[in-house]
Amino acid sequence: MISEKMIRLAGNSSAIRAMFEEGNRLAALYGRENVYDFSLGNPNFPAPPSVKQAALDILQNTDPVYLHGYMSNAGYPEAREAIAASLNRRFGTSFSAANVIMTVGAAGSLNIVLKTLLNPGDEVIAIAPYFVEYGNYVNNYDGVLKVVRAREDFQIDPEAVAAAVTEKTKAVIINTPNNPTGVIYSAETLRALGEALERKQEEFGTSIWVISDEPYRELAYDGAEVPWVTGIIRNSIVCYSWSKSLSLPGERIGYAVVPAECDESELILTALAIANRVSGCVNAPSLFQLVAARCADETTDLSGYDTNRRLLYDGLTDAGFECVFPQGAFYIWMKTPEEDDRAFAERAKKYNILVVPGASFAWPGYVRLAYCVARQTIERSMPGFRKLAQEYGRNGK
Ligand code: PLP
Repeated sequence: MISEKMIRLAGNSSAIRAMFEEGNRLAALYGRENVYDFSLGNPNFPAPPSVKQAALDILQNTDPVYLHGYMSNAGYPEAREAIAASLNRRFGTSFSAANVIMTVGAAGSLNIVLKTLLNPGDEVIAIAPYFVEYGNYVNNYDGVLKVVRAREDFQIDPEAVAAAVTEKTKAVIINTPNNPTGVIYSAETLRALGEALERKQEEFGTSIWVISDEPYRELAYDGAEVPWVTGIIRNSIVCYSWSKSLSLPGERIGYAVVPAECDESELILTALAIANRVSGCVNAPSLFQLVAARCADETTDLSGYDTNRRLLYDGLTDAGFECVFPQGAFYIWMKTPEEDDRAFAERAKKYNILVVPGASFAWPGYVRLAYCVARQTIERSMPGFRKLAQEYGRNGK
């Protein structure tokens, strides 16, 4: 018999698999262009041309033994240095290469941080609605995920977080800009969270690290600022990737940055590099460490996402649905006109529309729509959304 944990996971993944299969089934019946799949956060916009240029240049002009060889588990020193310098330029920090560990995407970053921090039974707080994989990542290290609900405006409720802290709490995972709500946590929210956690750390005589998961940092609209968390919360670590900001999810490239002010920062940094190794990743992909280092100050062109954001938000609200207007990321968080979000998502399939029920983010009564899709997908889906709204007696504009 294989691992019981994996048997459970294999069983649980069937909902996501079913969504994939449903997309394929509908595409076979009606044609791919007539299926409106808003379920996946896979950018439909290409990486900027500078990424390809950097990759070609590095491939042509770097010693292949160096480029394709093993390296320090923490990553190439010049990549770590370039990222520290980029962060310092943009956020007024004073990091050096020593504060940065190159990782296998944000998922790899979160995993090595949790592996480093958790003993079995340690608690990690997540703010609902949250990215469903947090539960799996915490479970990888036999931690216990505790869920604290966000406020009505989907900002963190610092006092609710403080109330959930016990002597076993090791970390709080936050995600800004947020998947699934598109909300950016304000400096005020972060300050209040930091203060509440300082109080709790003093009360219990423990360390509680805030892990800020930031793959959407660069995806902020209308000039919105995404506050730099380590400048506000003393005991915080940032997990980042270029999966979304440079449309590189398949390249698996990201980093963790641990400021010197963090409790046990030196030990954590040593342990993160070892965690890269013993988790079997060994190091982040070599070519894309160097590409990311060259493109560290760049982001994808946001105009396509912004157009989609407005198109989908306006279309849905005009049809009579209630949505959170997203400040960042590429998701719309929509209230379902019936309480049962799974039933709503099921009903949407009648119009070849695929959305993710809020229950998957521990927040029923909503669905998530990813708008990192072709603009035509949004335009062509609108008659279906209008009919769907009408089924609930909403006639819209
Ligand atoms: N965190 C959040 C909130 C995400 O939405 C995702 C991916 O969708 C990840 C982490 C994982 O990112 P990566 O592909 O860089 O591992």
